[in-house]
Amino acid sequence: MSEEVKVFAPGSVSNVGCGFDILGFAIDGIGDEMIFKKNNENKIRISPVNGYENLPTDPKKNVAGVAIQALLNDLGSDQGFDVEIVKNIKPGSGIGSSAASAAGAVVAVNELLGSPYSRMQLVDFAMIGEEVASGDIHADNVAPATLGGFCLIRGYNPLDVIHIDPPKDLWCVVIHPQIEIKTKESRELLSPEIPLKKAIRQWGNVAGLMSGLYTSNYELIGRSLEDHIVEPQRKVLIPEFDELKLSVMEAGALGCSISGSGPSVFALANCKDTADVIAAAMDTVFKRTELDYKIYVSKVSEGGVKIL
Ligand code: ADP
Repeated sequence: MSEEVKVFAPGSVSNVGCGFDILGFAIDGIGDEMIFKKNNENKIRISPVNGYENLPTDPKKNVAGVAIQALLNDLGSDQGFDVEIVKNIKPGSGIGSSAASAAGAVVAVNELLGSPYSRMQLVDFAMIGEEVASGDIHADNVAPATLGGFCLIRGYNPLDVIHIDPPKDLWCVVIHPQIEIKTKESRELLSPEIPLKKAIRQWGNVAGLMSGLYTSNYELIGRSLEDHIVEPQRKVLIPEFDELKLSVMEAGALGCSISGSGPSVFALANCKDTADVIAAAMDTVFKRTELDYKIYVSKVSEGGVKIL
């Protein structure tokens, strides 16, 4: 059994337009690197996080530490681990920064312990880790980061994750304006009531999106990405959202919406060439603003966390 392992923990896009709180997919183009070493002191130690010194190193506050502890508790082990995180996904980006750390941690520790758990079982522990970041149990980022592809979170009691392999030519473009949107604030904007007519359109789209993913019907994926409920309420937080969406749709995107609770925005495409054109269109819109931003062009991740 090895004593040390390095992993790539991918970013992820949750909500995916119509699938508020129930859908997410992982992306290969951005992720954290994490190094795990066994120690003989029965302690989880987290080094200061490279690039983001403000992130907690207390293992009870860092999602990686909490996720590892949840796994060790279930296994009845007191093995210690030293954890190093090279964080490339900015916290609060809407592309699953904390979820990447939680997913990377459980996959790496499982590997170092001789793989007692399946990837699907690891999602439970990653989700417990993710809870310290958001104060709430949710798996729409940790499940795809751990498993790859698309994940539908059908329910939580017990956790029921349906994994869907991504259609083979599905590309994603994400623009991350370097502003901070707190998930809590972004949630407070949402009305607790949904008019029945809107709900009907929304669940039609969720079912359409699922069918499109299973049958690699890109056109159906595109027309199902519409979000009649959350996007119209949240888009006010994202600079240039309407113009951005119009430009990427003109550039050939299948669909476009807010990634997680923002400020990142994602678009899907059916080939790399179109994804590049979409990235250029995003760049043109955002160049006019005073804001810093980053754009990632990436295939949908097939396997989630990768052992390097
Ligand atoms: P994101 O969706 O990008 O993960 P959140 O706002 O949901 O953004 O989570 C970020 C919060 O999680 C911050 O308060 C941060 O301090 C906390 N956190 C704890 N551990 C980590 C970690 N390893 N990586 C990123 N964020 C972490």
